[in-house]
Amino acid sequence: MVSVTLFRYSGTVPDTSVNLSFELKFVDRTISASVALPARPATAAELLPVFQGFSNAIIGLAQARAADAGLSISCRKGCAACCRLLVPVAEPEARHLSALAEARPQVRQRFAQALRRAEEAGLGEALRSAEHLGRERHDALMNAYLALRIPCPFLEDELCTIYETRPLQCREYFVLTPPENCERPTPETVQGLALPLRPSQALHRLGQRGMRWIPLVLALEWTASHRADPQHMAPAPELFREFLDILRSRV
Ligand code: SF4
Repeated sequence: MVSVTLFRYSGTVPDTSVNLSFELKFVDRTISASVALPARPATAAELLPVFQGFSNAIIGLAQARAADAGLSISCRKGCAACCRLLVPVAEPEARHLSALAEARPQVRQRFAQALRRAEEAGLGEALRSAEHLGRERHDALMNAYLALRIPCPFLEDELCTIYETRPLQCREYFVLTPPENCERPTPETVQGLALPLRPSQALHRLGQRGMRWIPLVLALEWTASHRADPQHMAPAPELFREFLDILRSRV
């Protein structure tokens, strides 16, 4: 059982920033933390570093619990089998990935190649409506995409080139089973690290008006066609509290 307790806001420098303290409890472990947020209105994209830090804290908690139970995580640097999966990203993450790719022609080229391969395999339509597919078609898309073994456009020499700022979904993926099982993962052969909370899914729902999630491979295409769309904006402390509320509602 996990609980998230939001303690208080405390002003630091009037009108410029606030500290928000909270406590996360997961069985017998507790994390107390605070984040400094701008007092002004912000978009979720601007708060991505805060959500990423929060996600790291949750994962740290889950890893400590696993270690207590004698379980060891198999994931190692240079093992990137999971970087061939279809990765769901939230709208602000799609915009962020697009901005990262802007200055990297090779990455943009790899995005185009990846999408072309998926379209040649007949997955274009399913990818663009992935969020709305029923469970069966969704699973079929995931399996068909994985079977193409398309590396993530940000992967180089089996290393993530945006590791510090990678999507929340990538952060949350750890396995306890042998790495070689990840080549052809099935629910029977791959056991993931159990997380008490899924920040990635909360981010998918934060201020949700359009798509909840977008396949990473479509990030550039989606951003290009939604560049002018108004983004969900609220005072940063409220936005973060909304994020915590979504997390709590899904415990
Ligand atoms: S963003 Fe990084 S961690 Fe995520 S799939 Fe791409 S290369 Fe892998």
